[in-house]
Amino acid sequence: MKALVYLGPGEKSLDDRPMPEIGAATDAIVKITRTTICGTDLHILKGDVPTCTPGRILGHEGVGIVEQVGAGVTQFHAGDRVLISCISSCGKCEYCRRSMYSHCITGGWVLGNSIDGTQADYVRIPHADTSLYHLPDGADEEALVMLSDILPTGFECGVLNGKIHPGATVAIVGAGPIGLAALLTAQLYSPAEIIMIDPDQNRLDVATRFGATATIRGSGDEAVWQVMSMTAGRGVDTVIEAVGIPASFEVCQSIVAPGGTIANVGVHGVKVDLHLERLWSQNIAITTRLVDTVSTPTLLKMVLSGKIDAKQMITHRFTLDTILEAYETFANAGQTKALKVIIEATA
Ligand SMILES: [Zn+2]
Ligand SMILES: [Zn+2]
Repeated sequence: MKALVYLGPGEKSLDDRPMPEIGAATDAIVKITRTTICGTDLHILKGDVPTCTPGRILGHEGVGIVEQVGAGVTQFHAGDRVLISCISSCGKCEYCRRSMYSHCITGGWVLGNSIDGTQADYVRIPHADTSLYHLPDGADEEALVMLSDILPTGFECGVLNGKIHPGATVAIVGAGPIGLAALLTAQLYSPAEIIMIDPDQNRLDVATRFGATATIRGSGDEAVWQVMSMTAGRGVDTVIEAVGIPASFEVCQSIVAPGGTIANVGVHGVKVDLHLERLWSQNIAITTRLVDTVSTPTLLKMVLSGKIDAKQMITHRFTLDTILEAYETFANAGQTKALKVIIEATA
């Protein structure tokens, strides 16, 4: 089968690989019909993710058709159409019992990281019963690919952790796919204002279409100044960090209102200063989280009912045999205006 393989920092190729095989009784083999590329895949390609070693097939998102199941899989059968969660969970360990699937002792974020992933013709899914979701007949597969990772990530790490409530003021720092997923799902809680902050005008235009009430083009002190003037010097109740660099976390700390919450979503690679000399008295909370995908069943219903228009995140379409071109397009989002790229199985 064909697969996109990580070969070490800066190197990848579309290779021929053997078909995955059932290892444990709880495994399923899924034929991928649609997958996508995540910002995290670009982090891996930079060499930022040491758990992902050369030779690994990348990808942790997708939908497909069950090809084969192990003897212990009871909820899925060959021929079932399924959504693949980016987080694999056993459902039984201490962390899974606490709904922290991301810390599952024998799962968590393993796909396209410590085991082979979804950017291939077929993938082996561990703990299939608790890591796959049935797709209803007639569901739009492209839209549902957004449920593998970005929608639950924006919702759980940004919106739920950020405690967005009716009438709240919200700022989202970073209007990439994750920031936009947070923007789409924040509106479920009817905040009064959602201010999007990003240096890229195209992404801000998209944010306005997606429901942002205000946009700020810029970063750093200039962005802080604008948020403070928009909020009469008060700041915002919830600020979602969706970039993962020190400068954006600095902005969050400067615009959080007393009693507010900073919900970090970004993947940080270097240390960040925490301004307790100013924040110690501000009654704020800072939250961190890796997505658990506990909200996937809820979000799935909302996408199916049209409450969340996930498909508008998709800007480009490729097939698995042109996935290298898809990576180029996704990695150069400033020029290509890419948000999410869909990679369909090669016909
Ligand atoms: Zn991802
Ligand atoms: Zn577990």
